[in-house]
Amino acid sequence: MNTETTSKTNGTLNGFTNEAIGDDHLFTSLDTPMKANAFDMSSEEKKKRISILFSEIMDVMGLDLNDDSLQGTPDRVAKMYIEEIFSGLDPKNKPKMALFENKYQYNQMLVEKNITFYSNCEHHFVPIIGKAHIAYKSSGKVIGLSKLNRIVQYYAKRPQVQERLTNQIANELKSVLDTEDVAVIIDAKHLCVSSRGVQDDTSTTITTFYGGEFNNASKILELQNYLNN
Ligand SMILES: [Zn+2]
Repeated sequence: MNTETTSKTNGTLNGFTNEAIGDDHLFTSLDTPMKANAFDMSSEEKKKRISILFSEIMDVMGLDLNDDSLQGTPDRVAKMYIEEIFSGLDPKNKPKMALFENKYQYNQMLVEKNITFYSNCEHHFVPIIGKAHIAYKSSGKVIGLSKLNRIVQYYAKRPQVQERLTNQIANELKSVLDTEDVAVIIDAKHLCVSSRGVQDDTSTTITTFYGGEFNNASKILELQNYLNN
């Protein structure tokens, strides 16, 4: 038995090898697993450190870092990780939520559909590309429509698994809007399934969260009708 298998036998994902955890997209927690001291290092320090480490990866693979096209790559990757595709790990990048009173007493469901997002699989660090559909029923508070989009983007910009992304968006909406009546549906394509592994280019994955009134069959049907049109 190699050391990888041994360590996993004692872990949460009992008995699965690291390879199987990745290919079957198993995960351990609904919170993004973070170290307690995740933000002791500044973003500037993190970028410097990632750049050094990424240049080592490129060097090990035999790439010539003196080449004009490649020499800036470690810095570019570091900047992209911290400022763009993984910026949602840092709570200081969380969108500020301005709430409004529901003065016009709109008390039906509100649906924001086809919110395009780009995320990355936490098992392989390759893209997840998808669409999120969000619905809620106001408890007396409403948020600007662009904020629904920003909540999706914030949680997408982390190493993710789709089930966790779905739940994190739903929990954020429930807390901000102070209601259980929230639904989140995500339909996404995982490049670790299409470009490697089983190499299935046509499958997509759908995950759902239905809270409060959205557990009611007629509400689910109503929502699905809006999404299908
Ligand atoms: Zn993956």
